[in-house]
Amino acid sequence: MIKKFIKSKLIKRDKYRSSRGGDARRLDMFCVQCQAFVLTYQKDGHGSLLRLYFDRILAPTALLNLEKQTDLTGKPLTCLQCGAILAMPYIYEKEQRPAFRIIQATIIKRLKK
Ligand SMILES: [Zn+2]
Repeated sequence: MIKKFIKSKLIKRDKYRSSRGGDARRLDMFCVQCQAFVLTYQKDGHGSLLRLYFDRILAPTALLNLEKQTDLTGKPLTCLQCGAILAMPYIYEKEQRPAFRIIQATIIKRLKK
């Protein structure tokens, strides 16, 4: 019972999630170049991962609430260990939602258990 409660607190539930079918998974992302941990992300629904919405980044603390810091929208997502550029910020027009567009073959995804 306790475990179930914790899990439900970790997954964000809102209008974006319900519009994608209500299915959500947490993914750990790593840099392809140096294997360093980059971030934990909540993926809503099915389909391939092309962009990372700012409001779905769950860790690390330095990358939380980016959607509230408008001055950061021009800053690319980089690997803190090797400096590789992993994704570029933009506004996903359909939802007017800030996101990082993933640069192909720069990020490794692993399902978080
Ligand atoms: Zn790296």
